[in-house]
Amino acid sequence: MNPLGVHALVWAGDLTPESTRKVISQSKQAGFDLVELSLHGPKVMDLALTRDLLQEYGLQLGCSRGLTFAADVSSEDPDCVARGIALLEEGVNVTAALGGKYFGGILYGAMAKYPGPLSAKGRQNAVDAVKRMADYALTKGVTLGLEVVNRYETNHLNTALQALEMLDKVDAPNVVVHLDTYHMNIEEADFMQPVLACGKRLGYVHIGESNRGYLGSGTVDFAQFFKALTLIDYQGVITFESFSSTVVNEDLSNALAIWRNLWDDGMNLAVHAREYMANGLHAAAMAHSHH
Ligand code: MN
Repeated sequence: MNPLGVHALVWAGDLTPESTRKVISQSKQAGFDLVELSLHGPKVMDLALTRDLLQEYGLQLGCSRGLTFAADVSSEDPDCVARGIALLEEGVNVTAALGGKYFGGILYGAMAKYPGPLSAKGRQNAVDAVKRMADYALTKGVTLGLEVVNRYETNHLNTALQALEMLDKVDAPNVVVHLDTYHMNIEEADFMQPVLACGKRLGYVHIGESNRGYLGSGTVDFAQFFKALTLIDYQGVITFESFSSTVVNEDLSNALAIWRNLWDDGMNLAVHAREYMANGLHAAAMAHSHH
């Protein structure tokens, strides 16, 4: 059974000590194995306390973020690239300090709607930066995940095949593809072929509905996606992501265009999501074993 995770924005918009306690205790109470902490927003996290709470509640950890236009490793400006590398290094350090092993997201550019296509020079800068950060992360026992997102959030990796191409260029053992069904629904032809193309290079998964609300309330074909995970024998983490104007982190929520209220009760949402994921994975595994 895959470790099932939940994104912290289901519970709280920041990571003050009070919010962190809520995020970790509620994630456990909803039955999850892992919590994903977003490294966007003001730096209010108490690292020692967070690490202790994760241990106390027996939860695994994932960390995630996207870069910004001011700190973008896919820029042509070396100073801007250096600021992007600094953010990545900080993300690796925070992940390791919390006892985590995974740092993923839009690590290869800004999480934003770009005004134009990526240049060849920008692409090379991003490959070089991720390779350099992968070498650093390896010394900390951290894996980097390149999350494939839709065209309004990056001009770089919109499909699994583009991510695999970048992985080939980076050529590091601790860099994986991170797929998200919300983004796949916009950019991919279906929910099967991208997963099969990744195979063992798929290292992290986000489960999100097409409207980013309750699972089953939109158009994502989760049965096909879970079947695909079964076919590649995916053993990794599967984390539920959902956003509503009920819980706001200004940096993240605005970048993701979270403008309306899709739910009020994070616990009801999360318990439903965990059951939906567990049932879907179970059904896919049963169908597979009966072949
Ligand atoms: Mn995601």
